[in-house]
Amino acid sequence: MSNDCIFCKIINGDFGTEFVYENEHLVVFKDINPKAPVHLLVVPRVHVASLNELEDKNLMGELLMGVKEVAKRTGLKSYRTQINTGKEAGQEVFHLHIHVMGKQTSV
Ligand code: AMP
Ligand code: ZN
Repeated sequence: MSNDCIFCKIINGDFGTEFVYENEHLVVFKDINPKAPVHLLVVPRVHVASLNELEDKNLMGELLMGVKEVAKRTGLKSYRTQINTGKEAGQEVFHLHIHVMGKQTSV
């Protein structure tokens, strides 16, 4: 938990953000500024600032399995995933997250 991290605060429940899916490793919530009909963020519970700070190999596996699970639950058959790393690449929130963007196809 990082005190000045907005995603840590969301995970902590400070803003009452609804989780589309969650498990022991991660939470998933809707992006506040969606760039696709369905735009979700898959976010590890542990604070890792970016891919450059990642040390836990297993965590990435959990995050990708989370992407798959939430896509299934949301009815996304096709979707794009994106990880921005570093300011110049467009990273705004320095708590690792995977964008999942697509169009709902069922549910
Ligand atoms: P990135 O540019 O990869 O760091 O992505 C950060 C994303 O977080 C952006 O798409 C923002 O729209 C989104 N975001 C920022 N604050 C919130 C929030 N409070 N709830 C949901 N999404 C947020
Ligand atoms: Zn954080």
